[in-house]
Amino acid sequence: MMKYKLWINGKACDAVNGEILAVENPATGEIIDSVPDAGKEDVDLAVAAAKSAFDDGRWSKKTPAERSAVLSKMADIIEARSDEIARIESEDTGKPFDFVSLGGDIPFAVDNLRFFAAAARDIKGSASGEYAQGYTSILRNEPCGVTVGIAPWNYPLLMAIWKIGPALAAGCTSIIKPAPITPRTTLLLGEIAKEAGLPDGVLNILSGGATPGEALTAHPDVQMVSLTGSSRTGKAIMKSAADTLKRVHLELGGKAPLIIFDDADIDLAAEKAVFGGFLNSGQDCTAATRILIHESVYDQAVATLVKATEALKVGDPFDQETVIGSMISKIQQQTVAGFVDRARAAGAKILTGGKVLDKSGYYYPPTLIANVEQDSEVVQEEIFGPVLTIQSFANDEEALKMANDVKYGLASSVFTKNLSRAMRFSRDLTFGTVWINDHLPLTSETPHGGFKQSGFGKDLSAEAISDYLVTKHVMVAL
Ligand code: NAD
Repeated sequence: MMKYKLWINGKACDAVNGEILAVENPATGEIIDSVPDAGKEDVDLAVAAAKSAFDDGRWSKKTPAERSAVLSKMADIIEARSDEIARIESEDTGKPFDFVSLGGDIPFAVDNLRFFAAAARDIKGSASGEYAQGYTSILRNEPCGVTVGIAPWNYPLLMAIWKIGPALAAGCTSIIKPAPITPRTTLLLGEIAKEAGLPDGVLNILSGGATPGEALTAHPDVQMVSLTGSSRTGKAIMKSAADTLKRVHLELGGKAPLIIFDDADIDLAAEKAVFGGFLNSGQDCTAATRILIHESVYDQAVATLVKATEALKVGDPFDQETVIGSMISKIQQQTVAGFVDRARAAGAKILTGGKVLDKSGYYYPPTLIANVEQDSEVVQEEIFGPVLTIQSFANDEEALKMANDVKYGLASSVFTKNLSRAMRFSRDLTFGTVWINDHLPLTSETPHGGFKQSGFGKDLSAEAISDYLVTKHVMVAL
C-alpha cells in the first residue's frame, strides 16, 4: 500500500482520480516509491479547506504566542525525526545524506521555523496618528488569506518550509505543492503540523506536477502564490495570476558571478568557488556559476581551481566521503551534458570534467570551462548543474560590466582585500545578495530574493512575513 498521501483538511487521502506519480532514486535509477498525483478536484478540495480555515479565523485569530508555539513544535518534531527525514530526502534527490542531515537542509529548515515562530510574535501595524483634523488613523497588518507555495526539487523540504514559515506566522492558510519528483518529505509535513497542534485546513499539501500548480494559480479563492522555481514557470504563473489579480512572489533562477581580484586570497577564493559552485551538484539558484578572474592572477587561480575541483569525491550519497552526489534526474543530467557539449563544439576549453560518468545513476562530474564568450549560452543561461565558466578581466570596470551582463540578478560575490572596491561593487552589482570574500551562506534573519529575471519578493527574514500581510487603514472620526 502506498504510504504517502495528499494532506487535505487535516487528513491523509489519495487523489480523487486515483492517479499516482512514481518516485525514482536518481543515485541508482530505481523506482523506490509512489505518491498521489493531485488533479483539479483535489485542488478544489484543498482550497475550500484552506478558505474555510481562514474565514472562520481558527488560525488568524489565535494570538501570536499560540501561532508561535505551533511553529516551534513543528521545528522540534522535524529535528527529532531528522535522520529519518534526511534519509528520505537523500533518496529522492541523490544529495549526500550528511549534507542533508547535518549541513544545508534539515538544520536550516528547523532554524527557519524557529525564526518564524519568534517573528510571529513581533507582527504589528504602524503607530496611530492624526493626519486630518478630527480623525485618528490606525494601520493594521493583516494576513492576506489563502496562500499557495510551489516548490522546486533542489531543496524540497527546505523550500516548502521557506513558504510555510512566513505564511503561518502571518496568520494565512496555506497549500503547498512540492515538485513532482521530490514529494515525500513535504508530504510528511501534514502529520507533523497536526501533531504540533495546527488546526485542520490551515496547511494542505498536494503532490503533483504542473496540473495542480496551474489550477492553484488560477483559483479565484487563492490570494497569493509564492513560487520557487525557474524563470519560465515564474512568467507562466504571473500571467495566469493576472486573471484573478492575485499577488505573486517569485524566487527564480540565477547565474551568480564570483569575482576574483588581483589582491584576493586565491586559495580562499578557489575554496569558496568550488564549494559555492558545486554544492548540491550545482543545482542551486545562488551557485557561483561564473568565475571572473583578474588577468594578472588568472593562471594561478585557474590552477588552484582545477586542483580543488578534482579533489571533490563524487559518488554514493550515503558514503561519508562523498561531497557531490548524483544529479536530480536523467533529464537534468542530459541537459547539463548538452550545455557542455555545445560549448565544447563552439571552441570552449574543458579544463576538467565534461563527460557523463560511466556508472548507474545520474552523475555528472564537477566541470570547469574556459575560453567562453560573454554572449555564449554557457555564460548567459542557467545550466543548473556542476558546471562553472571561467573568464578573465583587465580592470574593475570590465569586471562589473561582465558580472552584471546577464538577465538574472539573484546572487554575486567579490574576493578582494580592498575595502573601497568591495563597497563600490556591493553598491553597483545588480544582484539581491552580494557576498564579500565568501559565497553562499544564508541565514533565517537576512532577506533572500532576486533582481531582474530572478524575480521579486523575499524569502527568509521579517521581510518574507511582510509579503504575506496586507495593510488596512482604519480611520476613526473623533
Ligand atoms: P520548475 O520551474 O520547473 O518547477 C518549480 C515548481 O513549479 C514545481 O513544483 C512544478 O511542478 C511547478 N510548476 C511547473 N509549471 C507550473 C505552472 N505552469 N504553474 C504552476 N506551477 C508550475 O523549477 P525546478 O526545475 O523544479 O527547479 C529549478 C529552478 O528553481 C531553477 O531555475 C532554480 O534557479 C530555481 N530556484 C530558485 C531559488 C531561489 O530562491 N531563487 C531556489 C531554488 C531553486
